[in-house]
Amino acid sequence: MPSAALSPEVLAKYEPVIGLEVHVQLLTASKAFCSCTNRFGSEPNTNICPVCLGLPGALPVLNAKAVEFATLASLALNCEVRERSIFARKNYFYPDLPKGYQISQFDKPIAEHGWIDVPAADGSMKRIGITRLHMEEDAGKSIHDGFADSATRTYLDLNRCGTPLAEIVSEPDIRTPDEAWEYLTRLKEILLYCGVSDCNMEEGSLRCDANVSVRLKGAERFGTKAEVKNVNSFRFVRAALEYEIERQIEVIESGGRVTQESRLWNANEGRTYSMRSKEQAHDYRYFPEPDLPALIITPEFLAQRSGELPELPEARRARMIAEYELNTQDAITLTASREFADRFEAAAKTARSPLRVANLLLNEVGGRLKSLNLEQEKSPVSMAGIVQAADLLEDGKISSKQLKQLFDVCFEKGEDFAAVYDREKPQQLTDASAIEAMIDEVIAANPKQVEQYRAGKTTVAGFFVGQVMKASKGQANPALLNELVAKKLEG
Ligand SMILES: [Zn+2]
Repeated sequence: MPSAALSPEVLAKYEPVIGLEVHVQLLTASKAFCSCTNRFGSEPNTNICPVCLGLPGALPVLNAKAVEFATLASLALNCEVRERSIFARKNYFYPDLPKGYQISQFDKPIAEHGWIDVPAADGSMKRIGITRLHMEEDAGKSIHDGFADSATRTYLDLNRCGTPLAEIVSEPDIRTPDEAWEYLTRLKEILLYCGVSDCNMEEGSLRCDANVSVRLKGAERFGTKAEVKNVNSFRFVRAALEYEIERQIEVIESGGRVTQESRLWNANEGRTYSMRSKEQAHDYRYFPEPDLPALIITPEFLAQRSGELPELPEARRARMIAEYELNTQDAITLTASREFADRFEAAAKTARSPLRVANLLLNEVGGRLKSLNLEQEKSPVSMAGIVQAADLLEDGKISSKQLKQLFDVCFEKGEDFAAVYDREKPQQLTDASAIEAMIDEVIAANPKQVEQYRAGKTTVAGFFVGQVMKASKGQANPALLNELVAKKLEG
């Protein structure tokens, strides 16, 4: 077990090698090979039929929508889609697999040789290879607790049998737990943008196994790997990898050898455990599925899917940064989901300053939502309200202080911006001579700053604007105030 015994010098001698296998359930209405409903949360054993139960004589028929989704995901992950792929039987015995085999793809998967770019620690982008994407079906679920006799019995829910999956296998290109986290985050984003899966980890729509080994830096050969199975959040994947890397280094440093095995992550204890060895010995005896013909992807089908590809998150971020002068972090937040990015862009295009809309959305509204622990959908201020506020600010019709007060009222009363603004119509001081009098006072009280300004430090103007705005209780017309401050300081 890793302890504080490993010094940073020892850790630095080693290089981790990580590869990830991700299973995603495809968001089809029906299952992969039968017409049963594909839905999470139904009464146990209600969405089943002879095909997905593997009863004798039942024949599978491939769901065209599943092929569309798998192809779309393959293209979004920069994979080469194989014209002719083959389904195969992966044989194993397990209670939640009534057929005794899983229909999968083996040596001829639907797609190969893809990649995702992820941000590396030094700020550059790093390309992580994707070995393959193949189609397969899910198994059912064993339920080990929740029943009065759970101590002695296991219950089965076979609704999940035959749910279409895409398994996405990365190359062993990942070198740190952070890179693994980035890869998973990007992968999930891309799949969500394509609409092929809901990627809901709590419901098991996205599941991750991590292969990890360590080797001395500069060594050519990979070390012996361990597989950490079924970790149910990206945060846990990162933690499990951190644990596993230290554990393996400690084994090697103490003269031992890493065993090739499957391990389970225990989130409560923050460590991995070796699984029983009988669950590790796999001989799946793959052979081509005799009940399904080869899957042929025609150029026309491929072209149709290409046409359906949405603008993907990375490209969208780059475009939005260029188009609206956003910073990278704001662009990442705004594109976190396709729906949120769509709503932002639709609103921003109607505003005088899209950048201001982004700032209000993320900082003013986002900050208030965060402090109240509310989701974006629960915001009392609509996108239209944010656009209205941004335009008022842009035109200098309200000050930022007034805007903050108006937003406060929106959140207190649960009202949208338009209603609050109409009722409260903040007073504005537009009398130039009154503003000038206040500026004169501030200038007289701050000779040092005046000197700095006249010596060329023009940014000091902001200080004067701030002081006068404060003196006017936030009511001075910002545009007029800026203009008059500049004039007075120059004079
Ligand atoms: Zn069925």
